[in-house]
Amino acid sequence: MGETTEPSGIAVNQKLDRPSREFTNAHLIGGGIASLASAAYLIRDGGVPGGNICIYEETGVMGGSLDGEGSPEHNYVIRGGRMFTEEAYTCMFDLLSFIPSLTAPGKSVKDEIYEFNARVKSHSHSRLVKNGRKIDASAMGLSNKDRLDLVAIMATSEDSLGARRIEDIFEPSFFKTNFWYMWCTTFAFQPWHSAVELKRYLLRFIQEFPRIHTLAGVRRTPYNQYDSIVLPVTTWLKERGVRFVMEAKVTGIDFTYGPDGKGVERIHYTREDVQHAVGVGPADLVFVTNGSMTAASSLGTMSSPPTLGTKAEGGSWALWEALASDHADFGRPSAFNGNVTESKWLSFTATLRDPTFLKLMEEFTGNTAGTGGLVTFTDSNWLMSAVIPYQPHFINQPEDAHVFWGYGLFPDQEGNFVKKKMSNCTGEELLVELWCHLRFDDHIPLMLKSATCIPCMMPFITSQFMPRVNGDRPLVRPVGTTNIAFIGQYCEIPDDVVFTVEYSVRSAQTAVYSFLKIDKDVSPLYKAHHDVGVLFSSLKTMFH
Ligand SMILES: Cc1cc2nc3c(=O)[nH]c(=O)nc-3n(C[C@H](O)[C@H](O)[C@H](O)COP(=O)(O)OP(=O)(O)OC[C@H]3O[C@@H](n4cnc5c(N)ncnc54)[C@H](O)[C@@H]3O)c2cc1C
Repeated sequence: MGETTEPSGIAVNQKLDRPSREFTNAHLIGGGIASLASAAYLIRDGGVPGGNICIYEETGVMGGSLDGEGSPEHNYVIRGGRMFTEEAYTCMFDLLSFIPSLTAPGKSVKDEIYEFNARVKSHSHSRLVKNGRKIDASAMGLSNKDRLDLVAIMATSEDSLGARRIEDIFEPSFFKTNFWYMWCTTFAFQPWHSAVELKRYLLRFIQEFPRIHTLAGVRRTPYNQYDSIVLPVTTWLKERGVRFVMEAKVTGIDFTYGPDGKGVERIHYTREDVQHAVGVGPADLVFVTNGSMTAASSLGTMSSPPTLGTKAEGGSWALWEALASDHADFGRPSAFNGNVTESKWLSFTATLRDPTFLKLMEEFTGNTAGTGGLVTFTDSNWLMSAVIPYQPHFINQPEDAHVFWGYGLFPDQEGNFVKKKMSNCTGEELLVELWCHLRFDDHIPLMLKSATCIPCMMPFITSQFMPRVNGDRPLVRPVGTTNIAFIGQYCEIPDDVVFTVEYSVRSAQTAVYSFLKIDKDVSPLYKAHHDVGVLFSSLKTMFH
């Protein structure tokens, strides 16, 4: 393979209309929401011309983990379905407030989401199920010791918690309480995850305690998040001339050293088996999305399970590892990608052509599609949950098709009904296990006839929750660097919660405002725990 050298991957060194700012071009590595948001803030708040911005994405599609694909003829797939709240997603809703909706003319995406949620209200009547029956999820089931441990973890400093795991803090019985079943499946925590991350979540979402059993605080997008968020954001960026270099895997970054510190001078990427090198000037900016929770994810089929990928697949971990091995201040990826057994789980997307399941589910839960949210089977060996979103879930979904999503936190366990590990199951077997938990056995042959279910294995899905210590994640703007920022889920942002779109957008705002010295505050972190009223009602819930 030869190497081509480009002075810059971007339209000529266009000068800015703001002469006080010296940058020329911005190179964004990774096409997830962290980069998309960075590009949007560079344009809106930094006045950077879109033509000076270039996003390198190794796959053929933008959006990264915020995916949604499929066709009416075949089936649909989402690796995940996202829950947001109005209060805690200050950065995300700031971004979406200036992006026009594609499906609600004249409205912003934020307005569209708010209006959708005012119309389709979340209020689960069936959050937890056991032995095929709904159980009273308003009873948290906490002991006095559990309550004290919850208060203690929220009050303990992050330095004191260090690399401790959640299971180091709580009694084994805590992990069998209704509170834990709801908390861990809403946010995807495992007992072996970082106590620091749980502490951050408890504080950030403390206002959800009184409504955790109804999920009434949850906000959703009208369609899947690719259609409802990624498409409008990329459309807005394209209209402003941002360049998207697709199927471009960034493999390395060269630095130069000067009196102000180290700065990027070259980016190497591979595209269609050709190696490219892009020159980066001292006043250019580089944003790196380091690591990805959906790296190496793989899909199965109705008749075959997915395979378990490794960190060697794709450029995400490889690039961060290469950077970290040369620069001690760029973090330690092994803290996150070094234990796939503890960071993987499996989700599935089903496309149904027969209305039977949705009807049965509506009768069982008391919720119409889109109003219930997660239904978790507490006696499921896989700790399986399923969500029936509002239909249609895809813009191009025909009326006679229904799409729903589910996942299991323990993919290495044998099913209660299908005597196989979840990770070894075909799409059909996942549906059978789910429908047996619901005691819909009699309808299974009919429902299976026209169903497609696609399993998705994600080896690193909870990697950002793995126990970590200071320095495992690079700062958004590492000290002593001139033109590089780390964005996404694996950079350090004090007090904010990973495994959220919010964290990625916050990293984008932080990087852009800091690079361009923009006199504007990053959207504030929501701190409900400073509100006595919220604290009081949350404590009351703990005694229920
Ligand atoms: C199953 C699931 C459920 C979720 N639930 C929620 C939820 O309820 N609420 C919520 O707020 N969030 C949720 N999230 C999290 C949210 O989707 C992510 O935090 C967010 O999308 C991450 O965006 P990102 O841009 O930081 O990274 P990513 O989306 O991972 O994007 C990184 C991109 O960079 C590309 N890339 C990486 N390395 C390279 C390279 N070397 N060269 C070129 N390209 C590269 C990758 O291909 C990828 O497209 C969920 C995610 C999943 C998967």
